[in-house]
Amino acid sequence: MSTPLLEVHDLKKHFPVRAGFLGGVTGYVYAVDGISFSIAKGETLSLVGESGCGKSTVGKAILRLFDITGGQVTLDGTRIDDMPAATLRPLRRRMQVVFQDPYSSLNPRMRVRDILAEPIRNFGLAKDAADLEKRVGDLMDRVRLPRDAVRRWPHEFSGGQRQRIGIARALAAEPDLIICDEAVSALDVSVKAQIVNLLQDLQKDLGLALLFISHDLAIVEHMTHRVAVMYLGKIVEVAPKRELFAAPKHPYTEALLSAVPVPEPGAQRERVILKGDVPSPINPPKGCRFHTRCPYAFDRCRQDEPALYQTEPGHWSACHLHDLPAAENPLAGAKGAALIAKH
Ligand code: SF4
Repeated sequence: MSTPLLEVHDLKKHFPVRAGFLGGVTGYVYAVDGISFSIAKGETLSLVGESGCGKSTVGKAILRLFDITGGQVTLDGTRIDDMPAATLRPLRRRMQVVFQDPYSSLNPRMRVRDILAEPIRNFGLAKDAADLEKRVGDLMDRVRLPRDAVRRWPHEFSGGQRQRIGIARALAAEPDLIICDEAVSALDVSVKAQIVNLLQDLQKDLGLALLFISHDLAIVEHMTHRVAVMYLGKIVEVAPKRELFAAPKHPYTEALLSAVPVPEPGAQRERVILKGDVPSPINPPKGCRFHTRCPYAFDRCRQDEPALYQTEPGHWSACHLHDLPAAENPLAGAKGAALIAKH
């Protein structure tokens, strides 16, 4: 089996909570608390969950925007989480990011030409000045913006066009992996679809891997290969898209999917309403972190933390229901599949 492009093993990021005049540490926000996954070359893995579940922290931890609390991050077989900044630099080129708000992530005092030229120059990718200009023009073609728009400023573009510039800037470094952190969440529905189609075309043409961080399962269903579902700093289910959407094996995934509109006219999903709010990541519940909201919780859920269990090849879920006989598991077999559209 070939080496995955990205491997994340038991990743933890705990942010200290400080209080008082001296700013002493009074606790920790367990934003990411021991998650593992991998992404193959050319694959899209979507990391989904409600806001505050820790998914954006995972993206930032992979990019080394801060030090991690524990675990390992490996890029193409090389461990990068403990690498000194100078050694990391050439590897950093291979992982780029597209953020949610392209306006605040683009320098308003730089013309598009300079925004795109900066990473090309920083990573020493152009042979000479003519090559640099050619690369900038090619990037505009790739993201389907007119070449002469390179003379304009970020504020002169629409939200969708600015996101295209953000994608072009990420591509300028010739990455293998792009982390899309809620990259289409702030856009109108029609623009959203255009940007998703563009990302899919770029992935096909360039063989890019994508870590697509999103709370929008309707978009994820359209574009991903596999899905990892996060709840309160943990991954609770990982599966190929088709399997996950057809027959979720975790009650939290079941609830998330039940809120996704079904595209077929007249079809609908049985809505699962979760009780209560997401608990604080400063003091996550003992046992299964989802037990305070889970409609199927039983005694064991309040004591033991469930480990990820492979229910089918490539389909993992962390839930004690999998230890019950199939007849007692409400998400086993055909019952899970029944969550799909009801006519
Ligand atoms: Fe629900 Fe228990 Fe499964 Fe957690 S372990 S998701 S509480 S049934």
